[in-house]
Amino acid sequence: MSENMKTPILSVVDLKTTFLTNDGPVEAVHNVSFDIFESEVLGFVGESGAGKSQVFMSIMGILASNGRASGSALFKGEEILNLPLEKLNKIRGHHLSMIFQDPMTSLNPYLTISKQMSEVLVYHKGLSWSDAEKKSLEMLDCVKIPEAKMRLKSYPHELSGGMRQRVMIAMSLLCEPDILIADEPTTALDVTVQAQILDLMLELKKDFKTAIIMITHDLGVVAQICDRVHVMYGGRIVEKGDVNDIFYNPFHPYTQGLLNSTPRMDQNVQESLVAIPGNPPSLGQLSKGCSFQDRCDFCMPKCLEERPDLKITTSGGLAACHLI
Ligand code: SF4
Repeated sequence: MSENMKTPILSVVDLKTTFLTNDGPVEAVHNVSFDIFESEVLGFVGESGAGKSQVFMSIMGILASNGRASGSALFKGEEILNLPLEKLNKIRGHHLSMIFQDPMTSLNPYLTISKQMSEVLVYHKGLSWSDAEKKSLEMLDCVKIPEAKMRLKSYPHELSGGMRQRVMIAMSLLCEPDILIADEPTTALDVTVQAQILDLMLELKKDFKTAIIMITHDLGVVAQICDRVHVMYGGRIVEKGDVNDIFYNPFHPYTQGLLNSTPRMDQNVQESLVAIPGNPPSLGQLSKGCSFQDRCDFCMPKCLEERPDLKITTSGGLAACHLI
């Protein structure tokens, strides 16, 4: 789908996120720009500390207290970056929902599932408690929670990890949000449950036309669910493109490294996986030039001096590398 043909639901331009630390300001996100459209699944991939989650915590207004975001995030044409809490609360949950790796961080351990789910509908949609409970039951059925009526009376600790994640997805979809932001939603789950949750998200995308942002370090998850992919490294987008281009024609040496270190069904099992040497850079001590220089087999003198900007690749995507 071309980004030029439709109006995006969310359009982010030059997002920058800085944390004020005792050692000085640390830029966790640098000039990130992207659009997302209805019914689209956008992937954000990269190792831990690449800045993926901070992009969306900035947009959702849930940065740590020493974090500052600048730039622009237009949701249906309205600026939402740094909105006052009261206005942001009307958008969060109702139009933009976020789910995390560990549902226990978002579920209240002292309230039943019924109470937590119904509260969302009473608060955001003005439903009566009995209507809210009916709708919550429907949504638990929708995410295929077995014996949903009984589960409504359960407390979070009485459910398995996979079931808690389903409850979180059900909760986040109660208000039929335009965008569901899923931050490593399946990382803590076993492979079978992971596959079920991803299938479920695809079904929900179809039924509710929800756009999904999938934040993950797992390229297998990206391959299963995403339409377009953004690869992040050192707080920046270093490559973006259609999922097939990223998988079959990756340009950036970091994307190639990620793929070479991930098992693939379409490759000979005999082929060995190669890990990317070294570690991701510390965002507080990024070197001059390309931030991937210490780990890149193609590093040349220019890479040590000049930071590469995103440029169009031969496959029509964008990559930030001096090899272009
Ligand atoms: Fe490697 Fe240079 Fe490209 Fe950076 S700019 S990824 S160091 S070749």
